[in-house]
Amino acid sequence: MVRVSLRSARRHRDRARSRSQATARPPPAASMESSSQPPPLSGADQSEDGATAELPRLTVTQVEQMKVEARVAEIYSVLFGAAPNTKSVMLELWRDQHVEYLTKGLRRLAPSFHVLDANRPWLCYWMVHGLALLEETLDDDLEHDIVDFLSRCQDRDGGYGGGPGQLPHLATSYAAVNTLVTIGSESALSSIKRDNLYKFMLQMKDESGAFRMHEGGEIDVRACYTAISVASLLNILDDKLAKGVGNYIARCQTYEGGIAGEPFAEAHGGYTFCGLAAMILLNEVEKLDLPSLIGWVAFRQGVECGFQGRTNKLVDGCYSFWQGAAIALTQKLMTVVDKQLKQSYSSKSSSGDNLCGTSSSGYASEKSTNVDYAKFGFDFIKQSNQIGPLFHNIALQQYILLCAQVLEGGLRDKPGKNRDHYHSCYCLSGLSVSQYSAMTDSDSCPLPQHMLGPYSNLLEPIHPLYNVVLDKYDDAYEFFRESDQV
Ligand SMILES: [Zn+2]
Repeated sequence: MVRVSLRSARRHRDRARSRSQATARPPPAASMESSSQPPPLSGADQSEDGATAELPRLTVTQVEQMKVEARVAEIYSVLFGAAPNTKSVMLELWRDQHVEYLTKGLRRLAPSFHVLDANRPWLCYWMVHGLALLEETLDDDLEHDIVDFLSRCQDRDGGYGGGPGQLPHLATSYAAVNTLVTIGSESALSSIKRDNLYKFMLQMKDESGAFRMHEGGEIDVRACYTAISVASLLNILDDKLAKGVGNYIARCQTYEGGIAGEPFAEAHGGYTFCGLAAMILLNEVEKLDLPSLIGWVAFRQGVECGFQGRTNKLVDGCYSFWQGAAIALTQKLMTVVDKQLKQSYSSKSSSGDNLCGTSSSGYASEKSTNVDYAKFGFDFIKQSNQIGPLFHNIALQQYILLCAQVLEGGLRDKPGKNRDHYHSCYCLSGLSVSQYSAMTDSDSCPLPQHMLGPYSNLLEPIHPLYNVVLDKYDDAYEFFRESDQV
């Protein structure tokens, strides 16, 4: 989802629309005309008296869903029928293969990758973060090359483009900053021109309070999240950047409970994570209807054990992070959830209260000008979970380990699909989130019963609001705290 431009998101949306329109249309003319012929198997059946009874036709999505379920069931039936030792082997995380796949990608990519020429900081992030999750350190030359490359993507007037000389963009700025924070060296962190980046972000701010992705670009929740995440991580978030963002995001929460990319659009797992994480970093999470959000995300985990990104869509490994992390974040927000539930019960009859906070109370504008925004991300991760997992964390690990891993290294969307760096990054991020989600003490390690497969599967914990490895976040937090304010 969040990896490419809105243009591709729109293409995706248009395809989905035309697919749903196609399924809503009457059957093709050929089958209607041939009324003397027996109807297709999926659409009709022969009753006992020989009359033809119409059965509901299956939509394209229903057929695809059945195929995926059958494929996944086949994989799981092998696991359930296996001896304990074989089960353990089947549930292993193939670390060495994933390390090899990701490291190789950092050194050289095939010519076909030219289509991702405007996403090169993303490629760096997916691979560098994936390797950090696997506790793999890069060699000095490679680190130096990445820092040098990202410096050349940095625009003279602030922000990072998709490659050297390309237009600065909030999404690639997020990818570049997260990569440099993950590398974590003095040269990596000090290469970020925070004063220029701050100016770039202010230029991207719309009068509604939301952000646009780039000059003349689209305004959406993804732009809001990437701006707020980068600003928070670099300790440059202030009232000017924060003003109005929370109200915009609250307007994007839909009747289903999830968050859409824009107001009045469809709830989507990627935007739900982005919106929720940004709200926490802004300390405005009470503006969202959290019980409804939790309900929507929880029901996106299907019989395949992984998550779907939208209602009635197929399971996809990358949502192990977008949906898995979103629901894991709410485990630390139970005080707000309880408060909202109590308010909801007591104010059912009284009108005027708006849990979504879309009223014009102007929470952000009421804040003092000395809010320490960087502390919100820091304090959040130090808090313990107030409740156990609100999703099936073991089932999610099962989907990632058995259905998303590729034997040659790398992870994928679902069985039958190819591996790629994006899915490798987000499947591993989702695996880490699910391994740590059952812990109630933020300083301890997961117990073996919270993990599926051997304990050697354990990945590094992440800071889920930024999706960077926790140790790397801590170092960056100290570094930018001590650096002079912009
Ligand atoms: Zn995906």
